[in-house]
Amino acid sequence: MSLRPHTTIAFAALAAVACGDIASPVRDDLYEWRLIVPAAVGTDTVHFHWEQEDLPVRVWVAGDEVEALPSLMQRAIDTWESVYLYREFQAELVSDSNTAHVIVRGVPAPSKAVRSVRLPSALAPECDGATDLDVSPDLRELTLPIRIFINPRATPDTPGLGDCLALTSIHELGHALGIFEHSPNQTDIMFADPQVDLPSRFDRGTAEALYHLPPTIEAVGR
Ligand SMILES: [Zn+2]
Repeated sequence: MSLRPHTTIAFAALAAVACGDIASPVRDDLYEWRLIVPAAVGTDTVHFHWEQEDLPVRVWVAGDEVEALPSLMQRAIDTWESVYLYREFQAELVSDSNTAHVIVRGVPAPSKAVRSVRLPSALAPECDGATDLDVSPDLRELTLPIRIFINPRATPDTPGLGDCLALTSIHELGHALGIFEHSPNQTDIMFADPQVDLPSRFDRGTAEALYHLPPTIEAVGR
């Protein structure tokens, strides 16, 4: 199967205003990360990242559904934090779900709430995942928490299940940090059905770049 090329996104002027440390005028290590939604005319886009005052993002993980899930989500946090030179994204596991920004469950995603946007992913036989975003109709508010579902579809001793849960944890946390679309390329962990274990150069470039542009939507409710 031939791979579609990564989209080159030129946003030199915006990047220069938002963040002085991007030296290259045009980056070629990005794909489209903004949520694309229907609009009255054509499509609109939603861009989100956590603000500095939100950090560290509070992530609550159900401990009694998938035994390895808390440690896998901690590994996912460590993986994404390592992308950033200036700690633009930080997260921590918390014990109180009532104050969490992100809720992670080890169960199948339930019926989708009417208002939420669901990003279904990781459709492997061993496990699947989904991330639900509650976006207001005017696209101005993202009501927290973001809800992640990581669902083992096989028994615990199934070969490949651990790897599937691990890469799906990284993939879904990638959505929760602001990558709201899927990469078109199989070599990226943000491909809809990820095949790789860790973020690629393109995943890392995209995750880094999106924190250098002002968000179009604000997180509310926590
Ligand atoms: Zn996904």
